[in-house]
Amino acid sequence: MMTNANQLEPRTAHQYDASEPRPDLTGMTLDELERFMADLGKERYRAAQVMKWIHQGLADSFQQMTNLSKGFREDLELIARVGPPRVVSESRSRDGVRKFLLHMRDGCGVEAVLIPEDDHDTLCVSTQVGCSMGCKICRTARMGLVRNLTAGEIVGQVLTVRKTAPSSRITNVVFMGMGEPLANYLNAVKAIRILTHPTGPQISWRRLTVSTSGLAPRISRLGRDVRAKLAVSLNAVTDEQRDFIMPVNRAYPLEDLLEALREYPLPRRDRITIEYVLIKDFNDSDADARRLVKLLNPIRAKVNLIPLNDDMLEDFRSPDPERVARFQEILMSRSLMAIIRKSRGRDVLAACGQLAGGSREL
Ligand code: SAH
Ligand code: SF4
Repeated sequence: MMTNANQLEPRTAHQYDASEPRPDLTGMTLDELERFMADLGKERYRAAQVMKWIHQGLADSFQQMTNLSKGFREDLELIARVGPPRVVSESRSRDGVRKFLLHMRDGCGVEAVLIPEDDHDTLCVSTQVGCSMGCKICRTARMGLVRNLTAGEIVGQVLTVRKTAPSSRITNVVFMGMGEPLANYLNAVKAIRILTHPTGPQISWRRLTVSTSGLAPRISRLGRDVRAKLAVSLNAVTDEQRDFIMPVNRAYPLEDLLEALREYPLPRRDRITIEYVLIKDFNDSDADARRLVKLLNPIRAKVNLIPLNDDMLEDFRSPDPERVARFQEILMSRSLMAIIRKSRGRDVLAACGQLAGGSREL
């Protein structure tokens, strides 16, 4: 494990940077950039040029954009900026996972996790600084919500990590870091549009997954607004269980959530991923498994079984591996596809539910 904690600067979170009125072009869609260029009296194609420099050339200053005239670059410098987050420290897990602590311009910190797979890498990005959803099993919840990330700050995590780890092959992006993406709806949707755009970082929508704790009305809206893969953190099979660990369930109980999933406009051959964190003697019985099968029928779903990371928890424990295997067997024997997710990056607090913006106290 390598933690460059000494590189940490004094934290200046919560401070809004009023001295920086220039818009960050990282968070603009091609349409918006075209309007921006039109307002400057520039040709339309300049927008695509700048967008490619930012997202494909990984340029973080206008000076690098050498196919723009020097005068134009200087003008841009005065009225706009390109501001991907900065890497403040990095931790490397024994299993190859790399966790980056990134600072936004105002000093707020979020974490992004690079997960090497056999033939590609996945980047897990944050959508908020902290989270307001209050799930009892999740470390991010203990921070509360500090603020939403802008679309540029969400996309910027991909750009910064690509630049910092040039040999990485980030083809897959998951919105599974800090925060509830659908509670930061407009920025999350805009980030999806930019990430999947041909002039942007070129992440295929089939390789971009949005994970939500279950804001039912926004799931339906997401299906109408944009294309991306959907993952839902179900984690329970009765309202009583779910109310206890996920307060969002009191606003949108299982019935509402499942209805949103049944109606979700799934592309052909696609499935909704159901995340189910297995907690010892809480939601891991044979009866729970059978009930899960029943609830998900007739939704086209596959289940990711995630044994609880109990390192930082007092009240909940992870089930024994035999219990996890038995739970999976029950789902599979009833034709529900189920995969057990190995926990990765646990030694550097990079695994599911362990991110807390660089704080060690939480
Ligand atoms: N806020 C979104 C995106 C974050 S994804 C969401 O909740 O879906 C974080 C995932 O980690 C969720 O599926 C959550 O259920 C899971 N998780 C939270 N705490 C965990 C823990 N202690 N162990 C294992 N998984 C956990
Ligand atoms: Fe927020 Fe997701 Fe953690 Fe719940 S599990 S507190 S929604 S980040």
